[in-house]
Amino acid sequence: MEFSQYQTDALLSITNRPPLIFTEGHGMWLTDHAGKRYLDYLQGWAVNCLGHSPQCIQDALAAQAKKLINPSPAFYNAPSIELASLLVRHSCFDRVFFASSGAEANEGAIKLARKWGKKNKNSSGGDRYEIITFDHSFHGRTLATMSASGKPGWDTIFAPQVPGFPKAVLNDLDSVEKLITDKTVAVMLEPVQGEGGVIPATREFMQSLRAFTKQRGLLLIVDEVQTGMGRTGKLFGYQLSDVVPDIMTLGKGIGGGVPLAAMLCREEIACFEPGDQGGTYNGNPLMTAVGVAVTNELLQPGFLQSVQDKGAYLSAELLKLASRHGLQGERGEGLLRALKLSSDIGPKIVETARDMSPVGLLLNSPRPDLLRFMPALTVTTQEIDQMISMLSDVLKKLGQ
Ligand SMILES: *Cc1c(COP(=O)(O)O)cnc(C)c1O
Repeated sequence: MEFSQYQTDALLSITNRPPLIFTEGHGMWLTDHAGKRYLDYLQGWAVNCLGHSPQCIQDALAAQAKKLINPSPAFYNAPSIELASLLVRHSCFDRVFFASSGAEANEGAIKLARKWGKKNKNSSGGDRYEIITFDHSFHGRTLATMSASGKPGWDTIFAPQVPGFPKAVLNDLDSVEKLITDKTVAVMLEPVQGEGGVIPATREFMQSLRAFTKQRGLLLIVDEVQTGMGRTGKLFGYQLSDVVPDIMTLGKGIGGGVPLAAMLCREEIACFEPGDQGGTYNGNPLMTAVGVAVTNELLQPGFLQSVQDKGAYLSAELLKLASRHGLQGERGEGLLRALKLSSDIGPKIVETARDMSPVGLLLNSPRPDLLRFMPALTVTTQEIDQMISMLSDVLKKLGQ
C-alpha cells in the first residue's frame, strides 16, 4: 500500500511524523509499509529493552491472554504478585504499585511523598509537600509531572502549573540546599537525565544528596523510567552510586514494549490508605506477565555484564567516530549514550540517516547538538559496527 492510501488525517496531530508506516519489528530492525528496513537505535524510546517482539514477550502475552486478562485492580492476581516479588527481591524496596505509564508512576510517587509529608509534619505542625526537582529533568506529560520537569518552556505551555516543584541544578548540592523550606518533603531526580541529553548525576552528588536528605528528614525519589531495568548496565541506575533511595519509579524497559510501569517504596514510607491511589488497568495480569518475562531475561546470569560490555564497546566506537569527524565526544552509562556534535546538525542527521537507502538508520536528537543511542540491550557488536558505519556515511554526506 502507498503511504497516501493510509487515512492519517483521522489521527490528532501531536508531532511531525515522517511519512512512514511501520508494519513489523524484530530485534534491532523495523520494516515500513514499502518493505524498507531500518536499524532502530530508538527502540520506542528505550522501551524495547529486548528488541522488537522478542519471543519471551510473544509467549507471555499469548499464554496469559488465554488465562486471565483483567480481573480488576481490586483483586489480587498471580503475575502482579510474582513481578512485585521479583522487583522487591532484587532492589532495596519493599512494596510495589503498578501503573501503565512512567508519568502515572511518577504521579504515584509525588502523591506518596505528599501523603508522607502530611503524616510527618514540619516543626511548626504544617504539611510538607514541596518536591525539589532539577533543571532539564523529564518526568512525564501529565500536568503534575510536566510541572516537576525542568524542560525549558514547560512552565508556561499549560499554565497554571501544579505548584510545589522548585528547580535545582544537577550535581550542585548547594543549589538544592538553597531551595529547602519548612514545606520541603522530597528531592526527585533521574540518575541519568535522559531527555535532558544523557547527563549523569555524579556518584559524589548522589552520595552527598542521599546523606543530606537523610539528615534533613527528606525523601529521595529516583525516576528510573529510563535508567531502570538494565539500561545502565546495573539492574537499577541508583546502584551505580551505591545509594539507597526511598522511592523509585520504573517504566519503559519494564514492559519491554507494552504499557507497564511501577512505583516502589520502602516499608516505612508505604502510607497510602484505601482510596488514595488506584487505576483501572494497574497491575493487570496481561501486562505484569510480560513484566515477569522481561525481568527474568534481565536476571539471566551474564545479561547485565553483557550490557556493560556492549556499553563500553559502543562508547569506544563513538569516541573513535568523534575523533575521525571532529566531534565533541560522547557520554552516558551502559547502553544509554550520547554523542556530542560540533554544531546543531542533530535533526539533519536524524532525517538523513532515516532516509538512506536501501537500509535506513533510526536515531534520536534530544538536543540539536546531540544524538542519543538507546539500542535494545540485546544489540550485537555487529549491529553497533553497522550503525557506526552508517552514521559515518551520514556525517560525510553532510560535510562533517
Ligand atoms: C519517558 C520518561 C517518563 C515518562 O514516561 P511515560 O511512559 O512516557 O509517561 C518519565 N520519566 C523519565 C525519566 C522518562 O524517561
